[in-house]
Amino acid sequence: MKETASPRRFLAVVGLFLSLVLLLWGCGAVKPAVSPTAVHTDFDVIIVGGGLSGLSAGAHLASSGLKVLLCEQHDKVGGCATRFDREPFVFDSALHQMAGGGPGKKDRGLYQLLKVAGVDRKVELYELPHFYRSLFPGVDIRLPGDWDGFKKALKAKWPEESEGIEKFHRLCENTMNDIMEIKDLFRYTGFKKFTTMAMVPFRQPTFFKYMDKTLKDLMDDCFTDENLKAVVSQLWVYYGAPVPDQTALLTLAATEGFLADGVWHIKGTSQELSSAYAERIEELGGTVMTSTPVTKIHMVNGMATGIDTEDGSRYTARYIVANTDPYQLAYKLIGKEHFPEKYIRKLEGMKPANSLCGVYLGLNIDLRKRGYDDTEIFINPSTDTVAMYDAMMRGDFENGAVVVSIYSNFGDPVYAPPGKSLVTLTSYSKMDYWPEYGEAYDRVKGKMVDDLLAVASKAVPELADPNFIEHREGFTPRTLKRYTMNKGGVVYGFYMNPEQIEKIPNTTPFPNVFIASNWTQAWHGVGSAQINGWRAARLVLDREGRE
Ligand SMILES: Cc1cc2nc3c(=O)[nH]c(=O)nc-3n(C[C@H](O)[C@H](O)[C@H](O)COP(=O)(O)OP(=O)(O)OC[C@H]3O[C@@H](n4cnc5c(N)ncnc54)[C@H](O)[C@@H]3O)c2cc1C
Repeated sequence: MKETASPRRFLAVVGLFLSLVLLLWGCGAVKPAVSPTAVHTDFDVIIVGGGLSGLSAGAHLASSGLKVLLCEQHDKVGGCATRFDREPFVFDSALHQMAGGGPGKKDRGLYQLLKVAGVDRKVELYELPHFYRSLFPGVDIRLPGDWDGFKKALKAKWPEESEGIEKFHRLCENTMNDIMEIKDLFRYTGFKKFTTMAMVPFRQPTFFKYMDKTLKDLMDDCFTDENLKAVVSQLWVYYGAPVPDQTALLTLAATEGFLADGVWHIKGTSQELSSAYAERIEELGGTVMTSTPVTKIHMVNGMATGIDTEDGSRYTARYIVANTDPYQLAYKLIGKEHFPEKYIRKLEGMKPANSLCGVYLGLNIDLRKRGYDDTEIFINPSTDTVAMYDAMMRGDFENGAVVVSIYSNFGDPVYAPPGKSLVTLTSYSKMDYWPEYGEAYDRVKGKMVDDLLAVASKAVPELADPNFIEHREGFTPRTLKRYTMNKGGVVYGFYMNPEQIEKIPNTTPFPNVFIASNWTQAWHGVGSAQINGWRAARLVLDREGRE
């Protein structure tokens, strides 16, 4: 256990995991150019980007009476959290499982936030019937989405590890409790911040102990059997770094979030949630403009004054919230010259996470009728997560991990009509591997689709038969970059090793510019994005002296 940690690191880490807890989980007229000294403002807050982080920020700010303008480059809001239709199938672009609580269950904050934003009554959350099935050579285990069921399944297979399984549960619970105790730290300043941070080693000991540890350290602390370690750390595939590199805190907090608070999905796809936020912003007098890329943020004397959009319009506001990656914010929208060198050096020294690739599939058979009950299956060629990760990075998808999500088993008829099924396959990838759009790209993409289908057919042999596949469509880091504008098509922000868990704060060097995105201290994922938005909104409201 480390005895000391710098206050800055502490603040950042606590900020990140506070949010993880919660995770667990009119168009303005064209304006004339503003003079640098203009005090006239059209909006209180402009939000650049309509992913879930930006939408959540917008709804919270509008709920507090601020006049919001949200600009989204795509023709619909949602960013990753969206849907697309391929008759007769409906695909959720991203969401498989959401942690963080829902109606009628323990709620560490996410559902409360939906209520505060007035979005809860516009969406229906439902619990998924299973957590995951994990397949390794010699191991095939299904894990329910509650602690009792989860522990029972593990103990039945590894009875000699019962004590370690209980210890893992205790550590997850304690980590979450610790985080809840310091959940408002990101808002503190001065003496209050200093004293809260100084007490963390004594008051939040589990959080403190695992702050600098890896997922491998955690597994070694709890278990001896390598297969058991592999099954419990399986969600490394969700969090974006192999087990020896990945921070232990993600698994500790997220597992408690899923198993104590439920494994959730959104009725009608994650687009319903995104659209509900947009609707709420407009209900409260705000403006949501789609097909509106923001090209510039104007700065005067270290303060943002407004934005330009691609169609040549200019809008002014007292605050800007960026739902973009920090590289776009610094290099394109604001301009590197406005930033302190230290901030840019930090950004350049940080390692972004990798992107994803995968396949959306519509099948002309009913998988449930054929005996498949699973919703989420992880297929692993071995327990060596570094080897799997490296294989995926070099495009050797057959030797990587593949997630098979059977959406038509979720319990929502939206995905596929009776007699048909909808499945997605997901794996990791990095932008460098992908040629520019063109023939070479199409060839590499076609091979990726074939490779993932070959791996997935180990769990669902029907996927090897092209006669059953009515629709197949691959996605790559280039696809994700096009729809989110995130550097490298990254969906998770920064690589989640212990050195980088602080990510970057929601604040920027500029007093009226905030970031709400996957790249900031509230972790990544559908739940966290909403927390990130709330945090950015909260910081604006604190500056405004509003509750
Ligand atoms: C295939 C896949 C599967 C996933 N599965 C899960 C899952 O099961 N569970 C889970 O919790 N999470 C999952 N995620 C992750 C989750 O979807 C994301 O973490 C989350 O939605 C990110 O939200 P965000 O708002 O921070 O960023 P984004 O969704 O990236 O949104 C950024 C938005 O800003 C817009 N934008 C950027 N620049 C500009 C500009 N200059 N002008 C105007 N607009 C701009 C973009 O168009 C985009 O709409 C998955 C993601 C993918 C891709």
